[in-house]
Amino acid sequence: MSVEQKRRALITGASSGIGKATALAFAKAGIDIALVSRSVEKLTAVAAAAEHVGVTAKVYAVDLACVDRVQEQIQAIAHEFGDIDILVNNAGMGYTANLSDTPLHDWQRVIDLNITSVFQCTMGILPAMRARGTGTIINVASIAAKQPFPGWGAYSVSKAGLIALSQTLAQEERAHGIRVTAICPGAVNTELWDTETVNADFNRSNMLTPAIVAQSILHAALLPPQAAIDELILMPSAGVL
Ligand code: NDP
Repeated sequence: MSVEQKRRALITGASSGIGKATALAFAKAGIDIALVSRSVEKLTAVAAAAEHVGVTAKVYAVDLACVDRVQEQIQAIAHEFGDIDILVNNAGMGYTANLSDTPLHDWQRVIDLNITSVFQCTMGILPAMRARGTGTIINVASIAAKQPFPGWGAYSVSKAGLIALSQTLAQEERAHGIRVTAICPGAVNTELWDTETVNADFNRSNMLTPAIVAQSILHAALLPPQAAIDELILMPSAGVL
């Protein structure tokens, strides 16, 4: 790929799971990557692995839960790193509790990170994509957006909202050469299942792997400009676990 054709991507939640696998898949495809999450240490390890295959990978520590500052921070990253061709809004949190047991503070945490931070990241990148008349935005939602499960109410609502955000944005930005994809994976074997806000005991051996999801994200990102995947549901062949 010539220098002129070199693509740049910004991936949120790139320190672990789906985001980390996406970073490595993008690197292998020759895409330069800006890696965003809270943990510099973990991001630095991912960047080192990416640079090993010959791309530029830079690390940016951002707490996406501090939604007021996110748009500005993402804009500054793009300014420093270079124009972003592909934005992967992947960072998110799992959360389990029946709705009747969900405190307002927890509800707001889930909505802030899983939807509002995506809105803010997108708004940090969108003006430059519009100015260039091109761009791909890929939002990692979940099968929980389509099929709400008991005990996953706040999470399902956040991911259903993310689908609505993706669909609206896709229609609004089509005329500006920007395409938007929502990916809805079923269960993926990542650290999300070990986090303190998730209490679930599924058989992880039947889950998708982060690398499988990353291949779908890469596929959506590399489609020719005249094609777009609006929505992609990717399930373990064993079904909902
Ligand atoms: P992981 O827990 O492995 O990764 C989550 C990522 O998000 C980490 O890189 C983490 O980085 C980052 N992150 C979390 N909170 C913040 C924050 N406040 N600011 C910045 N970054 C943050 O989970 P997955 O890879 O499984 O999840 C990725 C996405 O996939 C999520 O949106 C999730 O909802 C979705 N998903 C997951 C499924 C699954 O079964 N695992 C199924 C369907 C969708 P750090 O800690 O360094 O900040």
